[in-house]
Amino acid sequence: MGIMLKKVHLLQSPEEERTDVYINGNRISAIGREPRGFSADETIDCSGKTAMPGFINCHTHAYMSLMRNYADDVPFATWLFDRILPIEDSLSLEEAYWGNLLSIAEMIRSGTTTFVDMQMFPRMAVKACADTGMRALITRGLVGSDRNDEGAKTRIAQAFDEMDYGKDIGAPVSFGLGPHAIYTCGEDLLRYVAELAHDKNLPVHLHLAETQKEFDDCMNEHGMSPAAYVDSLGLLDGEILLAHCVYLDDNDFSILARPHVHVVTNPASNMKLANGFAPVTRMLREGIHVALGTDSAASNNALNMFTEMRLLSMSQKGVTRDALALTAEETLRIATENGAAAIGREDLGSIEVGRTADLILIDEDCPSLRPLYNRKASLVYSASGSEVSDVMIDGKWVMRERHLKTIDEERVIYETEKIAAKYR
Ligand SMILES: [Zn+2]
Repeated sequence: MGIMLKKVHLLQSPEEERTDVYINGNRISAIGREPRGFSADETIDCSGKTAMPGFINCHTHAYMSLMRNYADDVPFATWLFDRILPIEDSLSLEEAYWGNLLSIAEMIRSGTTTFVDMQMFPRMAVKACADTGMRALITRGLVGSDRNDEGAKTRIAQAFDEMDYGKDIGAPVSFGLGPHAIYTCGEDLLRYVAELAHDKNLPVHLHLAETQKEFDDCMNEHGMSPAAYVDSLGLLDGEILLAHCVYLDDNDFSILARPHVHVVTNPASNMKLANGFAPVTRMLREGIHVALGTDSAASNNALNMFTEMRLLSMSQKGVTRDALALTAEETLRIATENGAAAIGREDLGSIEVGRTADLILIDEDCPSLRPLYNRKASLVYSASGSEVSDVMIDGKWVMRERHLKTIDEERVIYETEKIAAKYR
């Protein structure tokens, strides 16, 4: 299957330049000049479009969109323990499936082509990805005291079952382990996760240093910061995504500056739950790898990487009182290339020959982007996500001319409202 994007603008090119992009199967086979033996099954006039790599949303909980706008304007502990967890515990597998689909529909519409999930319903996330063509790294959410904790054991066994299920149905997903946090997982369980991840070569995905309380409790209980604590348990020796990292002490920056450690910042969620601002500018200066995530629609309350980029850049400029903090170019890189690196997929995150064709087209004729002095600035500071017209994952269109090709949106909305009616 050959697809030609004719006269498209690529974000890495000078503003006035247009070129042709050739996609063969799931690869970008050439840019500019038609490759030998290429035959276009589909040629798309892109003279009013900008192409960019799809976003990689590196931290979310997709089924939780069912709780969007259910618990707002409440403190973190009330939000999590009194409002969100009781609903989560009562959801059925089928309900979680529709929640996952709702999130995937929203993410595709706003240009996300891969998400990293901490899931309590991994089978349903795998199925939702297989059904829609959405790419994901799915990490099984874990809580418990130690490696003999029955709940944790069941969930870990389940995590490995879901990996087999994903392979069986050909879902575009990879897997990891998702211990929830240092305050919901005991020391021995966290050590065990580090060992398992090492033995099975799996990435780990953990919430870390999200709140002042988590930082203070960790200092009191373990005599060290959350970052130093997880390092002492061996968790930072392998591939790991650390969501949040809002509370770091001076020593933590050097602890986290390692090639396989990726901090995932979630500015909207941190602001909305009144947890503060992650020191992203300093992280970057000190050589820490930073990617971007939305967190769930229950704490954001959207899964939109455009608004997330805008908040990231704006909040860092505001907090550091430095207008040069997090430029549009840096912010875009964090939302795409850095995300690809965080999930070990260097074939994603940019539009270059030989890379996998996960890309989006932006409609340049949206008033919100005009005039087009500087597209990168337009995308970070002005776009809302509604400018995305087309989305391709693995060489296949999942949205064409704003129409979702793999999701029946009407059905998804009907099913999710039916579920929500129970909680009204
Ligand atoms: Zn989270």
